[in-house]
Amino acid sequence: MNKLDTSLIKRIFTASTFNKGEAYHKSGRVHGLQLNSAKNIWRATVSGSKLYTVQIELNGYDIDDDCNCPAHYSYGECKHVCATLLAIADEQNVATSSKKSGTKNARYRRAEELIDYFGESNNRSELNAEDEVLFESRISIEGTYVS
Ligand SMILES: [Zn+2]
Repeated sequence: MNKLDTSLIKRIFTASTFNKGEAYHKSGRVHGLQLNSAKNIWRATVSGSKLYTVQIELNGYDIDDDCNCPAHYSYGECKHVCATLLAIADEQNVATSSKKSGTKNARYRRAEELIDYFGESNNRSELNAEDEVLFESRISIEGTYVS
């Protein structure tokens, strides 16, 4: 699982870094959050006193983060990484709640069940639209064989 939540993020950082990071996230300073799903690497730009580039690789609970600010260089942690992790957690929650909205057709839900089933090594929340389409078309091909 690569699912983040606030309490997990809170444990990673010192209280002052977490509080600043949370304030950054809430005031919308995290921009252009993007996931490279092949590499499981998130990237974002965080606007502080300057623009900083944050890169975070999620490997289960192993979080490999990088930021080009002086604090990260000196202390190995910074509010920009914290703010970005919080933004990722939000993004993952949005993905989860839209899944539960029930507006999708039956075949789509079937695809999601399959993804759930195989989900341990291939976290569903990181699948992009293309992956989902792939799953769908594979299922319809199998359906053709059966009928
Ligand atoms: Zn930083």
